[in-house]
Amino acid sequence: MLSMCMAGKLSALKPMIRRSTMTDQYTFKNPVTAYEHISPPKQSQPEPGLDAKLTPKSDLGEDTYRGTGRLEGRKALVTGADSGIGAATAIAFAREGADVVLSYLPEEEEDATRIANLIEKAGRKAIKVPGDLKDSATCRELVDTAVRELGGLDILVNNAGKQVAQEDIGEITDEQFDHTQKTNVYAMFWLTKAAVPHLPAGSTIINTTSIQAYNPSPTLVDYATTKASINNFTKGLAQQLAPKGIRVNAVAPGPIWTPLQPSSGQPVEALPEFGKDTPLGRAGQPAELAPAYVFLASAESSYVVGETLNVNGGSPTP
Ligand code: NAD
Ligand code: MG
Repeated sequence: MLSMCMAGKLSALKPMIRRSTMTDQYTFKNPVTAYEHISPPKQSQPEPGLDAKLTPKSDLGEDTYRGTGRLEGRKALVTGADSGIGAATAIAFAREGADVVLSYLPEEEEDATRIANLIEKAGRKAIKVPGDLKDSATCRELVDTAVRELGGLDILVNNAGKQVAQEDIGEITDEQFDHTQKTNVYAMFWLTKAAVPHLPAGSTIINTTSIQAYNPSPTLVDYATTKASINNFTKGLAQQLAPKGIRVNAVAPGPIWTPLQPSSGQPVEALPEFGKDTPLGRAGQPAELAPAYVFLASAESSYVVGETLNVNGGSPTP
């Protein structure tokens, strides 16, 4: 079910969307009107943003995602699991039967606690591990903790990301460039390298790339570069690990309403138009990404290797 707030706003939309049409992710619905066409007010938060302070609220699937046992008994590590796409994925994984280790930054405790509570409500283990993934030792310790706490590991979702918009290359400091690379690319490498020796055949690694990998915005030069790297890393490593029975794939979201955007991810004046230039005419919600991660994590995608699954509201991709 939709939140009261969202349902209220939806009632102003034409054609009318009745709450009963959005019971869960399987309910037949028109993707154009499945969610409100939001015009987020101009807002800004310090990095990393908090879901708790996001206006309007995003849908993480709290009231809509229905599990059907697709990840029964699986052991997952999800980075950036406190908010946005990672949080929606963590909730979905738990409802599909997986125990989840949640990685996030210490400043995000409030968001992480809310998601951990939802996982426990689904009857699964939620292990919170705050830490800064720009540090290689923290990445290795995170994997060790996950293996110890879950009794093994068979799903790794590299989803943590840093995105800071700058109008001019002269405004991208060396520190910003370095931190964006460290968060988006190095951490993926460090975590994957540490995880592989623990992953049994059947395990899956899912990286979060972006439409920015092939269609970079002029304001996201450093960020978009990392997303192209992630796509390439995914396709090369997928071939290397396939013979071991470990599948590597990626999800490439389009414009999704998350705390990344108002915490310097977009120029503030661009926020009200966020996502409106997609063929569906609206921003996506994190809950609409979770089924892509579930599919790639589950054995049902056993012959899908090195794939980038675009979830972007219809923008063409190579
Ligand atoms: P989000 O802000 O909710 O999630 C990003 C998370 O990254 C944060 O919650 C934080 O926990 C984590 N993170 C950032 N720096 C970190 C660090 N140094 N150490 C540990 N964790 C750190 O935003 P989101 O949009 O859900 O982002 C998730 C992923 O999706 C990112 O990789 C992002 O690039 C990607 N993505 C997002 C969009 C979009 O429109 N929102 C589009 C394409 C790709
Ligand atoms: Mg967050």
